Amino acid sequence: MDIWSLQIPLPVALAVIATVGYLFGRRTKPITNDLLLRSRRELRRAQLVASELEKISWNVRKSLAKHHASVSRFKERVGKLGEYQKEAAWKELCNEAEEILKPTLQLAAQMAHAYDEIRQQSAHLMTFTEVRTDSLTGVNNRRGLDDTLAAQFATMTRYGSQFSLAMFDIDRFKKINDREGHLYGDRVLRELARLLDESVRETDIVARYGGEEFVVVMPQTDLDGACVFSERLREKIEQQMALTVSGGVAIALGDDTQDSLIARADNALYGAKAAGRNCVFFDDGEHVEQVVEEAASTIV
Ligand code: GH3
Ligand code: MG
Ligand code: MG
Repeated sequence: MDIWSLQIPLPVALAVIATVGYLFGRRTKPITNDLLLRSRRELRRAQLVASELEKISWNVRKSLAKHHASVSRFKERVGKLGEYQKEAAWKELCNEAEEILKPTLQLAAQMAHAYDEIRQQSAHLMTFTEVRTDSLTGVNNRRGLDDTLAAQFATMTRYGSQFSLAMFDIDRFKKINDREGHLYGDRVLRELARLLDESVRETDIVARYGGEEFVVVMPQTDLDGACVFSERLREKIEQQMALTVSGGVAIALGDDTQDSLIARADNALYGAKAAGRNCVFFDDGEHVEQVVEEAASTIV
């Protein structure tokens, strides 16, 4: 017996199949609390990416329509040139070509710009995929971080924009694990990841770098801004959680690679640990210094 012999209208049959599929999907994939909390922020981020992509495609469509009209005019007028004398036709062809050249070049520049923008948005979209997500905390994993940094370096090279990076490491985490157990330790890692994720800007990226180390990538942020923000974040963690973190901050420099940038942040973090923990240091390529608390707390 098939659907046709039951005489069920096709739209009704499709609706039933879709509903059954949806309910089955819900049963086999229970939505956990953590996932729900995370998804609210991810949803906002996805909406941001979607509206950016919409804007880009709208602009491209508008420019293409405009250009299509001028190409059609060009085609029509070139078509008519065959009727003239050779010499006159050649002159007119040159004039017509000159006229169409400007909008064509403009469109080419616009397309190149749109291409860059789409690449940036794709980089944001990448953070939604499972292969780039740390399964314990739900933030980016190392692969997600690598892709983010590659996109940031590409943007920096092309537009000369700057970005900074902060690395945070839980102080004496081994003791917390030993005292409270590994499962408790895992819960702490999830909590910290959520606090970081909720505290950063929509355009910042949080990643779990290693066991109890997290990285925040801050696009369009200079070293001062990154230091102020990182110190404020350290204070917030101290106030809201039963633990402290140390932080290391660095800004991407012209001749940096992903490894050299991370190495500087790591070096600054080492400085913070050596200075007694629960503080933030920066490495500007020449000095390693502590971020002063007063400077951080004057910014709201
Ligand atoms: P420090 O202040 O110098 O950073 O001391 P620490 O004890 O935090 O540093 P160390 O690097 O010696 O220890 C890190 C600990 O993090 C070791 C390991 O027990 C714990 N850890 C790493 N990954 C996980 C994880 O996925 N879950 C849990 N619960 N613990 C982890
Ligand atoms: Mg560590
Ligand atoms: Mg540690």
